Amino acid sequence: MLAAVLHRLGEPLSIEERPLPQPGSGQVRVRVEACGVCHTDLHAIRGDWHAKPRLPCTPGHEICGIVDAIGPDVAASRLGERVGVFWLNRTCGQCEWCGVGWETLCPNQINTGFGVPGGFAEALVVDADFAIPIPQTLIPLEAAPILCAGVSSYKGIRETEAKPGDWIAIVGVGGVGHLAIQYARALGLRPLAIDVSDDALALAKSLGVERTLNARTDAVARTLRKDLGGVPAVLMTASSAEAIRLGCELLRRRGTMAIVGIPPGDFQVPTFDIVVKRFTIRGSIGGTRQDVRDALDLAALHGIRAKVETQPLVAVNDAFARMEAGSVAGRIVLRPNASAPA
Ligand SMILES: [Zn+2]
Ligand SMILES: [Zn+2]
Repeated sequence: MLAAVLHRLGEPLSIEERPLPQPGSGQVRVRVEACGVCHTDLHAIRGDWHAKPRLPCTPGHEICGIVDAIGPDVAASRLGERVGVFWLNRTCGQCEWCGVGWETLCPNQINTGFGVPGGFAEALVVDADFAIPIPQTLIPLEAAPILCAGVSSYKGIRETEAKPGDWIAIVGVGGVGHLAIQYARALGLRPLAIDVSDDALALAKSLGVERTLNARTDAVARTLRKDLGGVPAVLMTASSAEAIRLGCELLRRRGTMAIVGIPPGDFQVPTFDIVVKRFTIRGSIGGTRQDVRDALDLAALHGIRAKVETQPLVAVNDAFARMEAGSVAGRIVLRPNASAPA
């Protein structure tokens, strides 16, 4: 099979022939129909974080495909099933975090396309328990971006503890942000969008946000404090310290900001406001298997769709280059088996 493989951090991926993996006990093999390209993949191949991918590495963790082989101890009914594979590839099921439904925090977790081969390939194997059935009304190109960008935005919104009817400021209208707007609406919230690009804000408007503000040209914090008294919830998808500072300025008393992007360095927190106005600033990392099921169901039910651009597997390095240049609108989705139906 063909796979895009990283041999050394910071180098381009090489498109090469690899042995077709065989599912072991409790595993399924997934023939990849679609795999989204996420910023996490870009950070991983550049070696940006203290955690590094295991080399050689086949990235990709936004995977939709068909089960085409099963190992021993897997129900035969799973053959032919359309499934999603996401960042959590395996958790221990034994630790205190797994025990309380917080498997995203499992210290023993293994990550798809990072610790084990991912979806920038024609096929991969995964534990059957981590191959999530895809609702029948979603096609692969729609489902793939939900597996990371979608679930990250859904979970991040939940982490703000916003209630139906609440305003929520979505800061950054990119791959995650444009899905977050749709999830916020599906959850009965009132999203407003903040970005520095008028094109991004036009996209936000087309997705039904009531208000858009340009952080470069509008006095965003002053305007929202004057009009709304601040907002109870901020979803921070932009990954700069400057954006996070702005997010803090938008909150009203008891407000919560959930951060889903990782800025390159640390940022300062407004300690006085956090104490006196009882702000909460909280990180949110991906989602659990149940979060993924919920995010997929909501997408199917409410017509939540990522703006996607499809590319063949061989275009993966070009996709990363454009991502680095910030010239991707929505999500690039690779189709490693180009003959598979969209
Ligand atoms: Zn991702
Ligand atoms: Zn665990």
